[in-house]
Amino acid sequence: MARVVIGGGGVGGLAAALCLHHLGIGDVVVLEAAQNIEPLGVGLNILPNAVRVLRDLEVLDQLSVQAIHTSELRYYNCHGDLIWAEPRGVAAGYIVPQLSIHRGDLHGVLLATVRDRLGYQAVLTGASITGVAEDETGVHARVEHADGSFSTISGDLMIGADGMNSTVRAALWPEEGAPARNGVAMWRGTSWTEPFLDGRTMIVSGDDVRRIVLYPVRADGRSGRVMVNWVAAQPAPGGLSLRSGGPSDPERFWSSFDVWSFDWLDISAIIAASEQVHEYPMEDRDPLPRWTCGRVTLLGDAAHAMYPMGSNGATQAVMDGWVLARALAEHDSHDEALLAYETERRPITTELQIKNRSMGPEAVISVAHERAPHGFVNVNDVFTPGELAAISQKYAVVGNFDIDSVNRHSGPENPPEVRRKT
Ligand SMILES: Cc1cc2nc3c(=O)[nH]c(=O)nc-3n(C[C@H](O)[C@H](O)[C@H](O)COP(=O)(O)OP(=O)(O)OC[C@H]3O[C@@H](n4cnc5c(N)ncnc54)[C@H](O)[C@@H]3O)c2cc1C
Repeated sequence: MARVVIGGGGVGGLAAALCLHHLGIGDVVVLEAAQNIEPLGVGLNILPNAVRVLRDLEVLDQLSVQAIHTSELRYYNCHGDLIWAEPRGVAAGYIVPQLSIHRGDLHGVLLATVRDRLGYQAVLTGASITGVAEDETGVHARVEHADGSFSTISGDLMIGADGMNSTVRAALWPEEGAPARNGVAMWRGTSWTEPFLDGRTMIVSGDDVRRIVLYPVRADGRSGRVMVNWVAAQPAPGGLSLRSGGPSDPERFWSSFDVWSFDWLDISAIIAASEQVHEYPMEDRDPLPRWTCGRVTLLGDAAHAMYPMGSNGATQAVMDGWVLARALAEHDSHDEALLAYETERRPITTELQIKNRSMGPEAVISVAHERAPHGFVNVNDVFTPGELAAISQKYAVVGNFDIDSVNRHSGPENPPEVRRKT
């Protein structure tokens, strides 16, 4: 039985651990740098292809207790004119929902499930990987522990799931350097408010360069209120030095958005009600020509960090874990399995990384601004028939979350072709 060392216990690393366990692959240990795992971050979305995996892992019911099942995605210009609306998840005909969820809730469920199924000791916290070496006996992670001591943790395979600033990736690609920034600053926060629209809709609004995204991630059944996740993005004002994930203040950006006008939604009040605001530079990584070197491969942001457009960060990390586990179940040789994993996943995420550099599906907002900077009465005066639907559908196919791909592969009559290794 193979021993698999997963570097990084974020969403991708924990989902991969569950996928490996589900398919009976090996003995898994997750090394996580943080000593105390806290519900960090704000909201994210999980698209139906990844939700299907989470359903197969039998964690969807638990996630659904905390998450919002997204019903619709709407794009607006900054004047409040509706550019495009499309149903999402079950409302769109998928067999599983799209989830809008607080990252802390998602992470908490994945962590508890890994510890429950694989054993508490399967996730070693306060264990920061500082280097990776390989020889004929296996792969060896050099680990610095929270008390300052060092040890070596070895396995047959290593999965680098240690995020945007991955140490494992740096071991494979030492010349690469820091992630690339595009000059855009993002501010993120959450606040409790009355529901807007049907209480399950995600809205993305903007002009040629600015964006505001809002969607509910938790609902309080007693008060009827929802926790809304928001993100505001704009080119970083001159001289603004951004502290990635650092605390911030609406005063650092809100004056540029104050002209945003929605007669049914007071965005200013939502942002003002936030308990905490954090700021981030928008950054990604160049696509890699390969993810695997010998016994080591990459997954999630470590493999393909991309700009946060189109809800693909956590989604694609979960998909990586599933395809990697399935490849290991289907191939006797590790080399063949890692090659099969990368051959299936890398083209998809490479195309998403590139598409997201030109704003992914959100590009429709910039196009609407170029064609009608002062707004419009009828969207059909701005876009040709079918133009918006085609952009949305094409992106879904690129990301492998179109209805056909998700529903076709997952009905009970068509189970995943995986033989369980015992
Ligand atoms: C604290 C935090 C908050 C985030 N908040 C949001 C958010 O609000 N919205 C959103 O869309 N996305 C957020 N993200 C990013 C999002 O989680 C990822 O884009 C996506 O889920 C892919 O997950 P991942 O597992 O590849 O990377 P990540 O979720 O970034 O997980 C990487 C993990 O590796 C650990 N790690 C890093 N270096 C080492 C090392 N040397 N040794 C061991 N472990 C290491 C990190 O502590 C982290 O737990 C956040 C990420 C983090 C880490």
